[in-house]
Amino acid sequence: MKKINMVDLKGQYEKIKGEIDDAIHEVLDTTAFINGPVVKTFQSNLEKYLGVKHVIPCANGTDALQIAMMALGLKPGDEVITTSFTFIATAEVIALLGLTPVLVDIDPNTFNIDPDSVRKAITTKTKAIVPVHLFGQCADMDAIMEIATEFNLKVIEDACQAIGADYTFKNGETKRAGTIGEVGCTSFFPSKNLGAYGDGGAIFTNDDELANQCRIIANHGMVVRYYHDLIGVNSRLDSIQAAILNVKLKYLNEYSEARNKAANAYNQAFSKSKNLQVPAQFAQSTHVFHQYTLLTKNINREGLHEYLESKGIPAPIYYPVPLHLQKAYQDPRYKEGDFPVTEDVCKRVLSLPMHTEIDEEQLAFITGSVLEFVNK
Ligand SMILES: *Cc1c(COP(=O)(O)O)cnc(C)c1O
Repeated sequence: MKKINMVDLKGQYEKIKGEIDDAIHEVLDTTAFINGPVVKTFQSNLEKYLGVKHVIPCANGTDALQIAMMALGLKPGDEVITTSFTFIATAEVIALLGLTPVLVDIDPNTFNIDPDSVRKAITTKTKAIVPVHLFGQCADMDAIMEIATEFNLKVIEDACQAIGADYTFKNGETKRAGTIGEVGCTSFFPSKNLGAYGDGGAIFTNDDELANQCRIIANHGMVVRYYHDLIGVNSRLDSIQAAILNVKLKYLNEYSEARNKAANAYNQAFSKSKNLQVPAQFAQSTHVFHQYTLLTKNINREGLHEYLESKGIPAPIYYPVPLHLQKAYQDPRYKEGDFPVTEDVCKRVLSLPMHTEIDEEQLAFITGSVLEFVNK
């Protein structure tokens, strides 16, 4: 059996090596390393794939979130509501911009932001909501968009883990993750579902003016060369990464299918176990399984984690600590016990290897090993 990795970038690369190598060499031959024509090509292909008017490439997903918030004109003191259960980048940029992160609890089944808690957290200072489509499945965007409309709030989707997921509204309309709110953000970090071979990110929007602001901010606030109208940042997707992503975008749907196949195998093995809760399928969203995350019940999660690791099976905890209990994010407004669902989930989640190259032998070994521990 091949060594089991959390992601298998090597195996994935080998299958499309010819195309990737050619794409990289084309950039090397032209030496258009920054803003080369392939960046535009990728941008336009991604716009088509997502069905969105504007894709603004940038240096990483964290920058995408920051640029989006700057472009929306959010000001220090403005409150931004987000989930207490996410990767730190979501709250980090809110804090860095001097905005006030307002955390709320999650839905215990989907792990996504709970709309009722969002509603309760709204004050006169609230300006935006940042739903995170965690682990590859969209948050309840019917409810979130309804709240945003009612209170005139901006919605910034953190779609870093969910590129390619589809959300179907209760009225039947379908949109891709990241194209629902005012603005969506994604990451092309190598292990993400559409991963580059280095850092990368992008902002999505249907709003012409907002797109323009994002482009200006990502480019030092420069409108005319060496005339700076805004204080911006330096955030670019380099041409080699764009060339790689342009090849991989063609395979993104196949990659999502491969992830779903692996998830189905896991579900089949675990759905009958009284000690494991398989990931809930939210009716309005497809799932692209950035992570396959189990919820353990009445078993020792750390014990299972160690058992799997001892058998060569990576089983990371995403995420062990809720945002409000992180050292850097200590805040007199929050204390332990404030977000009971998030706090409980952090103690019980465990993720299993999930990637596009995982094979049946590996899946059988992983599921067998999990059940061995669970049924012990
Ligand atoms: C990966 C990720 C980010 C940040 O992306 P980078 O490209 O690493 O900066 C932000 N939010 C979520 C939910 C992520 O998973």
